[in-house]
Amino acid sequence: MMTGIGASKGFGIGKIVMIQDVDLVIHDTPVSDPEAELTRFSQAVDTFVHRTEKMAAEIRTRVGEKEAEILEGHIIMLQDPAMSDGVADGIKEGLTAERAFSNVCDMFIGVFSMAEDELTKQRATDVEDIRSRMLKILLHVEEVDIRNVPPHTILVAKDLTPSMTVGISKENVVGILTEVGGYTSHSAILARALGIPAVLSLADITTKAKDGMEAVCDGESGTVILSPTDAEKKDYEEKRLAYLEQMKALKEFFGKPTLTADNTSVELVCNIGKPGDATAVLEASGEGVGLFRTEFLFMDRDTIPTEEEQFQAYKEVAEKLSGKPVIIRTLDVGGDKEIPYLHLPKEDNPFLGYRAIRVCLDQKDMYRIQLRALLRASAYGKIRIMIPMITCIEELRGAKDLLEELKEELRSQSISFDENIPVGVMIETPAAVMIADLLAKEADFFSIGTNDLTQYIMAVDRGNAHVANLYSHYNPAVLRAIKHVIACGKKEGIMVGMCGEAAADSRLIPLLLSYGLQEFSVSATSVLATRATISKWDKASADALAKEVAALLTKEEVESCLKKNVR
Ligand code: PEP
Ligand code: MG
Repeated sequence: MMTGIGASKGFGIGKIVMIQDVDLVIHDTPVSDPEAELTRFSQAVDTFVHRTEKMAAEIRTRVGEKEAEILEGHIIMLQDPAMSDGVADGIKEGLTAERAFSNVCDMFIGVFSMAEDELTKQRATDVEDIRSRMLKILLHVEEVDIRNVPPHTILVAKDLTPSMTVGISKENVVGILTEVGGYTSHSAILARALGIPAVLSLADITTKAKDGMEAVCDGESGTVILSPTDAEKKDYEEKRLAYLEQMKALKEFFGKPTLTADNTSVELVCNIGKPGDATAVLEASGEGVGLFRTEFLFMDRDTIPTEEEQFQAYKEVAEKLSGKPVIIRTLDVGGDKEIPYLHLPKEDNPFLGYRAIRVCLDQKDMYRIQLRALLRASAYGKIRIMIPMITCIEELRGAKDLLEELKEELRSQSISFDENIPVGVMIETPAAVMIADLLAKEADFFSIGTNDLTQYIMAVDRGNAHVANLYSHYNPAVLRAIKHVIACGKKEGIMVGMCGEAAADSRLIPLLLSYGLQEFSVSATSVLATRATISKWDKASADALAKEVAALLTKEEVESCLKKNVR
């Protein structure tokens, strides 16, 4: 048995087809006619563009817009002067088109691989893909045709490049296993979009697996068994059928209101990281956005996004969601979220240091830009502003004072905005829990950030493996904090939601309903499952379970009790 990163849910049972990279050998013969070599290169670029456009059009209808854009991005990258000028210089110096192009790709791959953030790192895979396909054109090597693999195929490759995935269809491919790649890699995104189970980052899978070998995989837990026994195959087949039934049942919740079994309505909204994600929210029948992590707009670039850039991003989400609520969180930088050009000091305890609202109130010029952009965008939809990492009333007041100043400025410039834009806070520190009653008098809503709240309540660094057993929202201390915060919000009549990962935990949902949580903010892929779980609980049975849990002393007891009662 092997374990990798479960990147696309579902169970695959089939025979392996290995996708081997053909050796692309470059012959370094000196070039006597650089002009002719340049023409050969530009003809290869034309062929590449033509083929890629065709692939993008096909994938656009078969898979989706986002996936097509990945391929179109390859055309943009290839035609970028930074790339084409480098190749031309190499050819003029006497290199073959293949060598000159390969050298430029090496340079880009080197730069992208050094990046800290996962998304920029992924660009290296894109360049690898472009290089391999361009070299195949220049060297007249045929591409692997995944379209013709037999039914029940489990593809095994070092990495699955975006162009390879074009030919994959659910009809014949039942699983994808790769040696590299993570949850956010293109292969993972595509596998999820196609609904094919995928397990990535399986060490040595390309040497352990052989063509024609049987295999089973679980795309959620990341488990893979090569040459499974009959009993293992039977077990996985049962799991596969149960999973398909579950998926079919969930479809029934698409576009439905989110109601408990006794018809209490709650809001089911989504967490997003960039404006483009708004489409996924609508496609998943999410009822709005409960957390837009704006720090992603600040990442993957060298300067702070301008007011205009931020305004366009916030406006795009507000407009796409056409009147549905959109909670936008102001910059949450620091802790484990680094933005190099902000030059935040290196600290011994970054999670306890210069972070989120603390940075923003200290660097007011930067914060003003974001708040002005948010106010301007509020004229185009139902935007709510949310402040992260609040520990005291002064921080909320500091942000609100700044907003009032900016409102005045906008009025004097006759720029429209929502005069009554709600301003809420994230409850993710023990301090905020302890003064939740006071905060509720000055905030328009609460959203409980259980990812951080668990860390701070339990005094446990999420990244520290020695204490990882303590990092659980089933700890009675965390549950009491959640219950208390909801009660404080209720007392003052403000909305209390949750945007930490715990909001999508089917075991925890009955407790949250019993405590009175009004808004669940989850990833787009969890919307239907969350709506289904909510529909199975009425107040009386949720309260009974909450009462049982309240009497338990340890997180193990809580977890096992909730597990027993999961619906
Ligand atoms: C949280 O802490 O629960 C949260 C939603 O914020 P983030 O995960 O971005 O820190
Ligand atoms: Mg947080």
